[in-house]
Amino acid sequence: MNLFETVTEMGHEQVLFCHGKDPDIKAIIAIHDTSLGPAMGATRLLPYISEEAALKDALRLSRGMTYKAACANIPVGGGKAVIIADPANKTDDLLRAYGRFVNNLQGRFITGQDVNLTPEDVRTISQETNYVVGVEEKSGGPAPITARGVFLGIKAAVEFKNQTQRLDGVRVAVQGLGNVGKHLCQLLHEDGAQLLVADVSSEKTEEVKRLFGATVVEPEEIYSVNVDIFAPCALGGILNSETIPRIQAEIIAGCANNQLGQEQIHSHMLREKGILYCPDYVINAGGLINVYNEMIGYNEEKAFKQLNNIYNTLLEIFARGEQQEITTNFAAQQLAEERIMKARKLKNQPIAVSC
Ligand code: NAD
Repeated sequence: MNLFETVTEMGHEQVLFCHGKDPDIKAIIAIHDTSLGPAMGATRLLPYISEEAALKDALRLSRGMTYKAACANIPVGGGKAVIIADPANKTDDLLRAYGRFVNNLQGRFITGQDVNLTPEDVRTISQETNYVVGVEEKSGGPAPITARGVFLGIKAAVEFKNQTQRLDGVRVAVQGLGNVGKHLCQLLHEDGAQLLVADVSSEKTEEVKRLFGATVVEPEEIYSVNVDIFAPCALGGILNSETIPRIQAEIIAGCANNQLGQEQIHSHMLREKGILYCPDYVINAGGLINVYNEMIGYNEEKAFKQLNNIYNTLLEIFARGEQQEITTNFAAQQLAEERIMKARKLKNQPIAVSC
């Protein structure tokens, strides 16, 4: 990998390689863009197969955070950190050493919990720095607000397609009935939608069947059921060359991260099939809105009000996609970049790239 070329191409402002001997620590903090505000992004701890793989992950995910925040109209930038370590070797010393690196950035980067870190680990990191979120879940966790954001996104998509927000009688297939999926089922049920659901856990499908009158199908069947909307709320990479031809829904709107197997190829496949795809990082921004509000002092009413940004942004993305004959994924990226450029101009901030 040509480091500077890659970083310049992806538009990162700063990439920090944090290392130390006692304790032995290797971490990468990628700050993609701070035009809209301090870079925000959770920290994951993984035994990456190579340092290059770790760097790629940090670069890709931090850029994703920039776009997510810009589309959600939240005044934060995009960042991400990776600690290269085996979870078995996670110690308080390691976490505190990492916390000192975060603290050295003096608020340019604010982090939280991702893969292989627990709320308890975040608390340990917070012994060295205040620039962490999620130490105490003042909001009761992000899942309910994420689900409500997805629900509003579904309403925006239905309005765009059918010129009505009404969901009564609309058939929705929900894949994954975890923290977000179950909440989403409740909101859809209360609004009169008919649910078809799948999960690998029969306990979860039985509960949603009992509570919301859902029809349960096998996990593999969920792609091909005859529905209006498909809501992926389980795994990434599920929209691919094998599944897309089977999908009958005309709208895809769910919370799962990285739904598209290959962004370019599969977003085009969806468009060619006439399926309205709600870009995942736009529709699932409720979690980010939640942590942002925890950071500034949690106010439920304010946080829920900001969720309307998801609805409005999606309508704008759909209209752009249609007018310019581009995928909704590309339209979202365009919109995010425009918002960032506008903020940069306002600040008169040079687009400096430094490592
Ligand atoms: P979760 O782990 O609580 O739920 C996932 C559910 O999917 C589980 O019930 C699991 O049994 C089910 N599942 C796994 N494999 C499946 C398969 N093959 N078919 C059907 N179901 C399957 O996770 P969650 O917090 O509800 O998040 C769901 C997705 O949304 C994840 O991709 C997550 O990264 C993303 N997301 C979550 C939030 C949040 O606030 N929790 C925010 C943004 C994005």
